[in-house]
Amino acid sequence: MADVKARNPVEPEFHQAVFEVAESLTLVLDRHPEYRRAKILERIIEPERVVIFRVAWQDDAGELHVNRGFRIQTNSAIGPYKGGLRFHPSVNLGILKFLAFEQVFKNALTTLPMGGGKGGADFDPKGKSDSEVMRFCQAFMCELFRHIGPDTDVPAGDIGVGAREIGYLFGMYKRLRNEFTGVMTGKGLTWGGSVIRPEATGYGAVYFAAEMLKTRKQDLAGKTCLVSGSGNVAQYTVDKLISLGARAVTLSDSAGYIYDEAGIDREKLAFVMDLKNRQRGRISDYADKFKGSVYTSIDPALDHNPLWNHKADCAFPSATQNEINEKDAANLLRNGVYVVSEGANMPTSVAGVEQFLEAKILFGPGKAANAGGVATSGLEMAQNSMRISWTREEVDARLFNIMRTIHEVCHGTAEKYGTPGNYVNGANIAGFLKVANAMVDQGVV
Ligand code: NDP
Repeated sequence: MADVKARNPVEPEFHQAVFEVAESLTLVLDRHPEYRRAKILERIIEPERVVIFRVAWQDDAGELHVNRGFRIQTNSAIGPYKGGLRFHPSVNLGILKFLAFEQVFKNALTTLPMGGGKGGADFDPKGKSDSEVMRFCQAFMCELFRHIGPDTDVPAGDIGVGAREIGYLFGMYKRLRNEFTGVMTGKGLTWGGSVIRPEATGYGAVYFAAEMLKTRKQDLAGKTCLVSGSGNVAQYTVDKLISLGARAVTLSDSAGYIYDEAGIDREKLAFVMDLKNRQRGRISDYADKFKGSVYTSIDPALDHNPLWNHKADCAFPSATQNEINEKDAANLLRNGVYVVSEGANMPTSVAGVEQFLEAKILFGPGKAANAGGVATSGLEMAQNSMRISWTREEVDARLFNIMRTIHEVCHGTAEKYGTPGNYVNGANIAGFLKVANAMVDQGVV
């Protein structure tokens, strides 16, 4: 870790992601000295390629803006680089390196042939017009297109990059390359997208929670669930929770959260989807619209997030990294939460994860629990290559099977390495072994 910190200064999220994996891997490296000799961990930590570029664009008033664009291509041992693009003012090299690093293990767990990458820009789509977002996406793609391709690197969405942005990015790529290929996933249904891709991450996180509960002979029916975020992942998490008879009582955005004791039903969820995806409004409007719900603004100076301080059975953090700190984790445990399925990437701090593991609750780390999104992106790539489209039932069944397999593999691996019930070790070790073996086979590259 000292070496990682020295070589990658000022990248705390990247250090955190590496630390968490490295801790699990001591169990493997002790049993398999050949990985140490081949310096597999050192090689996985160092991205194969990092591209940083200027993105200059003009707003509606004619003013010029300069943003910074990135693509991190971390590992291609088992397939083309694959991972989302994030547009958010907080984006920097360290955050994208952590996300790309996590993606390597996550993609390996899906059973599909995908390497790991991630990218994005410190651009904030909030408050921008559609034309401004389009001009930004086009300027971004004018550089990115040289580094990606259907057999090289296939980006998708992430925070701030949804259906609208994917459309503008794909349109510019197609124009520049004069090729209609599956270079991006999350595409619209009439131009190469897959059904269930928008739903996949949220659905997958709920399927994973259901699989964890099955090990205790329980299911989600009647369970009270805390969900954070109100974007893509949060929306479809709530959707699937409703289908399975659970009661989701919270949603949030970066300004605050709503608590709805009665539960978020289909009508309320439809309101949230319209509010967030079309009107691009704030979650506080939910409390204005639905009596009995309460909106609380979140003070960033507070040492905890009040959303995690309600009585519940399950938590689905679906907003962003480190949204559950040490105090939040303690609050969750005190309030009776015994299932945490991470829809977001690394939403729990190291100290929070330690508490969950110590309390022996059902804790599904993001790289396993939210792998449904990238898995369905893999299914979109497969459909694009074959030039066919599967039905909703077919894709959902495949997604479900993939989530069940990921659960089985993580559960079995944790047991095999002497830490039964520890899905963190299970996911890190199983993901690592697949990539490590491919790297050993391919020699020193
Ligand atoms: P969206 O942009 O659709 O939604 C993000 C949500 O999180 C919004 O409600 C946003 O609020 C909130 N949020 C973002 N940043 C912060 C912050 N710093 N503090 C508090 N709230 C914040 O993104 P997604 O739903 O796609 O992604 C959510 C998480 O899931 C991310 O961690 C992402 O990496 C992860 N993920 C996503 C996948 C996908 O398929 N989309 C796949 C796997 C993981 P506001 O509107 O105010 O910004």
